[in-house]
Amino acid sequence: MESPLFDDKEENHEFGSLYDSQPEEGEPHEALFFVLAYLQLRERLSVRVVCKSLRDAVDNDVLLWLDIFIEPPLSYRLLNDALFKITSKAHGRLRTLSLKRCVKITDDGLQRVIENNPHINKLYVPACTTLTGNGIVTIVKMLTDHSQDLKHLRLHGMYGITKQHIETILSCLKVQKEDQKQSILFFYHRRFSPLIHWDTAHPIDVGVCPKCSDVRQVFDCPRDSCKWKKEHPLLECRGCFPCVPRCEECGGCIDWDELGETVCMDILCSDCWLRLPKCNLCNRPYCNLHADHRTFLSDNTGFICASCHISSTRNLDWWSSGLEEYMIGDY
Ligand SMILES: [Zn+2]
Ligand SMILES: [Zn+2]
Ligand SMILES: [Zn+2]
Ligand SMILES: [Zn+2]
Ligand SMILES: [Zn+2]
Repeated sequence: MESPLFDDKEENHEFGSLYDSQPEEGEPHEALFFVLAYLQLRERLSVRVVCKSLRDAVDNDVLLWLDIFIEPPLSYRLLNDALFKITSKAHGRLRTLSLKRCVKITDDGLQRVIENNPHINKLYVPACTTLTGNGIVTIVKMLTDHSQDLKHLRLHGMYGITKQHIETILSCLKVQKEDQKQSILFFYHRRFSPLIHWDTAHPIDVGVCPKCSDVRQVFDCPRDSCKWKKEHPLLECRGCFPCVPRCEECGGCIDWDELGETVCMDILCSDCWLRLPKCNLCNRPYCNLHADHRTFLSDNTGFICASCHISSTRNLDWWSSGLEEYMIGDY
């Protein structure tokens, strides 16, 4: 019996059915074929079940499958066989494989994909928690044994990666000692999307924190006033997030007593806190990443945050139900 493509123990069968259902006959408008190159994986899987000609167009155009990005919610349920089936459409020419939180993909499953696609140059597996440090080292060796195509590796959120794993990976990638000292800025990573800014990034996104020696994302401080600290290892503000808390807006290191309260619970330095617009009711700002949660007032006098908006609606409900009770009680 054929093994399932997606784990169907969970309620949502959407992606399994998207992949497996048979298309109905019919000719789509030819303009539709031109948009295929602009669709994300999830949309492409939806389009291929519309009709046979779209299914053939999607399946047979190898260029659509050279860069594969698998994101939540699809990634939570993706099984090894489905990953193999999806990636095999690149016919061995896969360039980018981005698996974000694909918690069911195992070392064996990923190695099978890599064996068939030896020219991947961007491998992105953040929070793929079933993969192991040894598994990733094997994969990096497979990709770098005969060629140096692998240029970018992203591993944050994985478990069990040690300093030795990182050293082996860096030597396979031929990353020079000077390149390892290259600055990595926090705000850049927090806003990172696999679809943009890829080529400007550091070859590998995790390293050994100089403060706690754990393998994590390690960031540098962009503050000019901190640059002198680089000469003084005990004061240096290069480190992982738990060791050196950083402002969500500017990435600068901050003292805990400098913290300004935000609606979204992100950390801001006092300069950024002062600069950002505040909720009219609670006087707390959103960081720019969450600024779209603001509810603007119709008279252009600012905004109220989501939590104040909810509590003001509740108060209104409470007030009207209280009034109703009072009026009913009167009769
Ligand atoms: Zn640390
Ligand atoms: Zn700041
Ligand atoms: Zn600093
Ligand atoms: Zn508020
Ligand atoms: Zn925020």
